[in-house]
Amino acid sequence: MSYTLINPATEAPMETIEHFSLEQTDEAIARAAKAQKLWAALNPADRAKALRDFAAAVDSSIEELAQLEVRNSGHPIGQARWEANHVRNVLEYYSASPERLFGKQIPVAGGIDVTFNEPLGVVGIITPWNFPMTIASWGFAPALAAGNAVLLKPAEWTPLTSIKLGELALESGLPEGLFQVLPGKGSVVGNRFVTNKTVRKVVFTGSTPVGKQIMAGAADQIKRVTLELGGKSANIVFADADVEKAAATAPYSVFENAGQDCCARSRILVERKVYDKFLEHLEPAVKNVKVGDPTLEETEVGPLVHKAHHASVTSYLDGANVAFRGSAPEGPGYWFAPTVVLANGKEDRCFNEEIFGPIVTVLPFDSEAEAIELANDSEYGLSGSIWTRDIGRGIRVARGVESGNLSVNSHSSVRYNTPFGGFKQSGLGRELGPDAPLHFTEEKNVFIPND
Ligand code: NAD
Repeated sequence: MSYTLINPATEAPMETIEHFSLEQTDEAIARAAKAQKLWAALNPADRAKALRDFAAAVDSSIEELAQLEVRNSGHPIGQARWEANHVRNVLEYYSASPERLFGKQIPVAGGIDVTFNEPLGVVGIITPWNFPMTIASWGFAPALAAGNAVLLKPAEWTPLTSIKLGELALESGLPEGLFQVLPGKGSVVGNRFVTNKTVRKVVFTGSTPVGKQIMAGAADQIKRVTLELGGKSANIVFADADVEKAAATAPYSVFENAGQDCCARSRILVERKVYDKFLEHLEPAVKNVKVGDPTLEETEVGPLVHKAHHASVTSYLDGANVAFRGSAPEGPGYWFAPTVVLANGKEDRCFNEEIFGPIVTVLPFDSEAEAIELANDSEYGLSGSIWTRDIGRGIRVARGVESGNLSVNSHSSVRYNTPFGGFKQSGLGRELGPDAPLHFTEEKNVFIPND
């Protein structure tokens, strides 16, 4: 089995990628199990050094990784460089962890009691197509740091940067078999991570329906899972906010990466008193978004990733109350102009469903309580923003919104040193931040009597 990639900005066919079969997946899992034992037995300082060397190898390939993401995913070059730098940062951050998995010493009678954070063994990571290399690093860096071996299955449409990271790991001196990249189908390679007993944890980032399947399958072996799933996040703008700034920044909180972002603030809730003023300022901001050739430095938004995804996003325009749109190139490429839709009430499907494209829906509200209620009226709870000059309100609303990652008077993106993850059907567990390596360990308690 193989798959021919298409450049989403030109529709030109590119590399053909060989897919792993079930048998090849099992062989890779067996190699990983062997490599993991040696890796876990290494002196922690040596594991830390190996991760720093991996980070250095990524650092020396930032431009190559970025150019691959431009070709394969249509990410604008500036964004793609940020992503490659982020992978290096994540590796550097977690390279400190092998020497800092402290465990605890717990006061007990008659001896000493200590805990150890033992690696799980082999970890399978399944990634989506929207941020291929960054999301992969959120799993593999802390998992390796905690003493595990990692198998990474990238999405069918966007495997190139993951494959390159696998090569860089080997070139930097990571042991053979410890970090393997297995391009292939979700139903074959991804599902095998769930069913093969040697894989002790599956880290899945992708859609909520597939996440549910993974969780159900993992139950059979009580396999550990981390799930990072869909989102439909709210951007709440109160009348007392800097409305002009809120409107000027709103397009970048939802249209970045062509809206193919699980954290996209795709529901804008605006206090009715400033609804018209907000839309007046939003319109020029949307029209100024530079959609175009992702190889150009000035481009802010590239094409959608795939023809099929373009068709799915386009279907949301049927019957939608479109207020205004930005512009996008014509001709080859999966282009889609940024679009602002006025919601026909909270039942509007554009307001409720994760479109995963550059369409944002706006709805007015009348009170703080209603804003929180609307924000929470979703099966998702991943991200969100709150705009107000009232600091007390900022705190109240941030505490009231059921979401894992919120920012006040800003649209903070993911930081490697703070925890990230979703409430409700946006996920289970957390990635990144100081505790991430612990999520790739089992806590073991040992008592030693003093007699
Ligand atoms: P998807 O669920 O279709 O696929 C994700 C990955 O799962 C792919 O690698 C795919 O091959 C694999 N897969 C598919 N079926 C499988 C199965 N039965 N068993 C095992 N693996 C299987 O998602 P997508 O379309 O690639 O990505 C978009 C989705 O990802 C959106 O819903 C988005 O919100 C979500 N996402 C979430 C986060 C987050 O951190 N919460 C981040 C990025 C994307």
